[in-house]
Amino acid sequence: MAAVVDVDMLIVGGGPAGVSTALFAAAEDPTNVDRILVVERGRYPREKICAGALGGRADRALAEIGVHVEVPGRAVCGVSVRSPLGTLVARRDAPIGRVVRRRDFDSAFADAAKARGVPFLEGSGVVSLDRRPDCVEVTLDDGRQLRARAVVGADGVGSIIRRSIGVRRKSFYAQAIEVDTAAGVDDPDPGLLHFDATDRSLRGYVWDFPTIVDDRPMVCRGVYELRGRLDGRDTAASQGPRPQLGVKERLLRHLDQRGVDPTGLRFKRYSERALSLHEPIAVPRAMLVGEAAGIDALLGEGIAQAVLYGKTAGPYLARAIRRGDYSFADWQRVFSTSRVGLDLRLRARMASWIYDDARPLAERFITRSQAFATAGIHYFAGDQVPRWALARSALGLAQATLQGHPFRF
Ligand SMILES: Cc1cc2nc3c(=O)[nH]c(=O)nc-3n(C[C@H](O)[C@H](O)[C@H](O)COP(=O)(O)OP(=O)(O)OC[C@H]3O[C@@H](n4cnc5c(N)ncnc54)[C@H](O)[C@@H]3O)c2cc1C
Repeated sequence: MAAVVDVDMLIVGGGPAGVSTALFAAAEDPTNVDRILVVERGRYPREKICAGALGGRADRALAEIGVHVEVPGRAVCGVSVRSPLGTLVARRDAPIGRVVRRRDFDSAFADAAKARGVPFLEGSGVVSLDRRPDCVEVTLDDGRQLRARAVVGADGVGSIIRRSIGVRRKSFYAQAIEVDTAAGVDDPDPGLLHFDATDRSLRGYVWDFPTIVDDRPMVCRGVYELRGRLDGRDTAASQGPRPQLGVKERLLRHLDQRGVDPTGLRFKRYSERALSLHEPIAVPRAMLVGEAAGIDALLGEGIAQAVLYGKTAGPYLARAIRRGDYSFADWQRVFSTSRVGLDLRLRARMASWIYDDARPLAERFITRSQAFATAGIHYFAGDQVPRWALARSALGLAQATLQGHPFRF
């Protein structure tokens, strides 16, 4: 079987992480497009189960390299967070982000990369990876083989690259289920992202996000549930008993509360992989980005993170190509000290703190600290977070810690 030999870098997966990585590598040196190939299992436009809430910080990062992904969407200007202690709303006059359909967004994003010369191999799934001392060989689902100097695993939650480089398959999964419905009469403000964490038996939350389906304003509703721990204490025993209610039952209950008839609605369920603090994300000639490496444990947010993984990985790859060094020995360090790496590591800590160790206290902090919510929406938007909001958030966190539930950094 003939092998393609002339690819330096194979990016497996053409979702936001893979496309962003290719674009940022090309922005570093435009000739890199001749050295990269993106292999995507689907053909654009393809579906991706996702609520599509996209933080403005992803658009800002892409704007830095002149990329603008214009697709239909709903602008959002803030968030509401509900807990047993009440509801807190943080909003501002300008959008903090938008809600997009992934079918549209991913296709337009890939088009932006194609317009810059990034080559794609669509409709080809990687089924196996063979790492050798001087190259990697991947086998596609049609039996063809590709050879490259190195591979980037951007193949999402079920990453075959992750598995084939020997990262153990653990339970750092979240479950998420969603459904698009018409707005109900009692639906909250459609200009906000709504998070409901009133049910303490749920290690996660229920959401209502405005969305757009075939040009019609709708509401995407769903349930996010974190399974397992992310701080190394992830034994079967520490995960506790299985949740009494499944995510679908929880979503049905939520629809009932919103007065939405579930008959005929299409429920879409999928896993999410949160970043683990204790697993490698690179071995010689193979590195992981996006959800293949791990995304936000706290909320299951992954689109902006995937784009920002690319912002760090692109220049890193450009350097690897220039030097011909594909050991990826320092990818873990480079990622961990990047902004997105610090963000994801902090969220992994916060997830354990909020969902496991100090829930009532965390609720008090999160639903009563206007400063924290304000800092959060500015961060989501990619704006400078006001200093007063940061200072007061830190103070609130310190108070919480003094009350006996230390937050472990
Ligand atoms: C129900 C649900 C709701 C969500 N809502 C939100 C939200 O509102 N906001 C948010 O920010 N995040 C959300 N997420 C998370 C978000 O969808 C992901 O974290 C994000 O898509 C990760 O991007 P990625 O590029 O790493 O992976 P993906 O988007 O999964 O892209 C991976 C790509 O790799 C391709 N691929 C997979 N395997 C192979 C293979 N073997 N060979 C070749 N190609 C392959 C896939 O076809 C896909 O195109 C949600 C997730 C779920 C499940």
